[in-house]
Amino acid sequence: MHRVLLPFEFFEPTTIKEVVELVDGDKVRVLAGGVDLVLKMRRREILPEKVVSLQKVPGLDYVEGNGSAGLKFGALATLTQIEQSEVVMENCALLREAISKIVSVQTKTMGTAIGNLCVATPASDVAPPLYAMGARIKIVGVDAEREIPIEEFFVDAGKTALGPHEIVTEIVVPSLPSGSGGAFMKLSKTAEDIAKVNAAVMVTLADGRCEDARIALGSVAPTPIRAIGAETMMKGQKMDKKTIEEASASAAEAATPISDIRSTAEYRKEMVRILVKDALQEAAARAQA
Ligand SMILES: Cc1cc2nc3c(=O)[nH]c(=O)nc-3n(C[C@H](O)[C@H](O)[C@H](O)COP(=O)(O)OP(=O)(O)OC[C@H]3O[C@@H](n4cnc5c(N)ncnc54)[C@H](O)[C@@H]3O)c2cc1C
Repeated sequence: MHRVLLPFEFFEPTTIKEVVELVDGDKVRVLAGGVDLVLKMRRREILPEKVVSLQKVPGLDYVEGNGSAGLKFGALATLTQIEQSEVVMENCALLREAISKIVSVQTKTMGTAIGNLCVATPASDVAPPLYAMGARIKIVGVDAEREIPIEEFFVDAGKTALGPHEIVTEIVVPSLPSGSGGAFMKLSKTAEDIAKVNAAVMVTLADGRCEDARIALGSVAPTPIRAIGAETMMKGQKMDKKTIEEASASAAEAATPISDIRSTAEYRKEMVRILVKDALQEAAARAQA
């Protein structure tokens, strides 16, 4: 790791319009908390000619309710701010649970949730709960704005759907139907490390049957993924041991992990089954409560 950053031009615009006019893919990078960007610039992994800070753009650090108990947060909302927000506690406990599994206080104090997503690591702890809750991503460019489902934002490891002159301004999480419960599970080498595997699930129950299920997995494919086959097989079924075991086995089949320094592919696949089983049991208990 190098101590000294190579020279670059630094901009601190005060409007989104100026930001998007300046940003340009890898050459001109936007900076939110700087946790990932500055580290990679020190390592010479990213060498932008210009860096455009969001910090002087007013009104991007909000975390608020969105209509009937949904949630929205802006590009400068830090992980700590989201974790400690009462609105998140009430409307989006699954996201809070996932962020609580990131233990580095410095990272959560400086780092934003949107910055975490824009890094596009498959090991993100922020993405799976947002997949499980059907979040949408608001993107602003020079001439237009668009909103896409989070699944479409992650294109490949380290690659998002953002164009060269686009930034993410907001995440919108819809309200959950009554009878819903979620759970997040993370397996990592040490508490401080990123996930070998993580899983976020959200189930909606009525009379003990599963009306809807969303199962999201991290660190087992180039992007976070949903276990659609497992979700489909659960719908309409009694939320019992058999359904949970079959769904967990199906989720493991959806995983296409690699072996790396953190784990082998085989172990990751087996751990998907265990984590999803535990998460579904917990989510069902919470939905019933
Ligand atoms: C010690 C340590 C431990 C960590 N542990 C975990 C962990 O356990 N789990 C986990 O999930 N993560 C973990 N992380 C990752 C951390 O959460 C992210 O690095 C951080 O949240 C990034 O946010 P940031 O605001 O600092 O982004 P920045 O560093 O400012 O930006 C990151 C990237 O996203 C781009 N970007 C930022 N904001 C926008 C935007 N609004 N629109 C478009 N592009 C944007 C930047 O150009 C840059 O390329 C860890 C990081 C460290 C250093």
